Amino acid sequence: MYFIGIDIGSTAIKIAMINEQKKLVDFSVSPSGSMFHKYALVQYEALCKKNNIDPKEVKRIITTGYGRKLFKTSNDQINEITANALGLQNEDLKALNIRTIINIGGQDSKVLEINDNGGVQDFVMNDKCAAGTGKFLDMAARTLEIGVDELEKLHFEAGYSAAEINSSCAVFAESEIISLLAEGTSKSEIVAGIHNSIAKRIRRLSRKIHFQAPVLFDGGTALNNGLKQALEEEFMTEIIVSKNPEITSAFGAAIFAVNSYQPE
Ligand code: ADP
Repeated sequence: MYFIGIDIGSTAIKIAMINEQKKLVDFSVSPSGSMFHKYALVQYEALCKKNNIDPKEVKRIITTGYGRKLFKTSNDQINEITANALGLQNEDLKALNIRTIINIGGQDSKVLEINDNGGVQDFVMNDKCAAGTGKFLDMAARTLEIGVDELEKLHFEAGYSAAEINSSCAVFAESEIISLLAEGTSKSEIVAGIHNSIAKRIRRLSRKIHFQAPVLFDGGTALNNGLKQALEEEFMTEIIVSKNPEITSAFGAAIFAVNSYQPE
């Protein structure tokens, strides 16, 4: 028996396949594109095929994320806050007793306060403004003519000399980046400055909840250790990133699929 969690985000579709012991079998990450249902279905079928699994062996599919309602093939949907917290049941994370999750996705960022039982006590979310989200990093990378996967390397090249990014709006920040480049500021200093500005925003956002260690950082942007370091400095605490940080919520949706399964 297999169970599937599909996280249809603004930027990427993440699919986690687990077995009845809640062990990760395989996963995929692909661009969301413009046709969520079609793209998610193609990726789901490809994942089954790659693992030689007949879709009949898949007992339940749960979707989460921004586009969760658009995937008609699912058995149910859960919101991304619930899915993210359920993702803590991953083998690598279970024993860590995570109390705070920082999730920075493509279009929003959230900070979740986790209670003793691993449930969501409270959360704060920024989904109104691109600053402090993956979109901000995507825009910055485009302006600097680099890939988002190069941000980490540039961040560490800067050492501790980061440019000051003052604009709190992604649109103005783009002009600020162009001005800094024109003044001869290095790309690495600009990248470090961008990471610091995102970390500051997340800290401001998290003032509304009880922020305590251990802290997990997840979402696609957690693939960037430079941003992780900026967050660690801003919060003055160690931050944990799991092996596949972009699939925590998809994994959590798959966990929900197992928990809600009722054999006929
Ligand atoms: P969503 O769920 O909203 O689609 P994700 O959690 O998948 O968002 O995160 C998407 C963001 O992750 C992108 O906007 C991008 O900035 C960042 N990202 C994706 N892949 C990488 C990578 N290899 N290195 C650094 N950042 C990445």
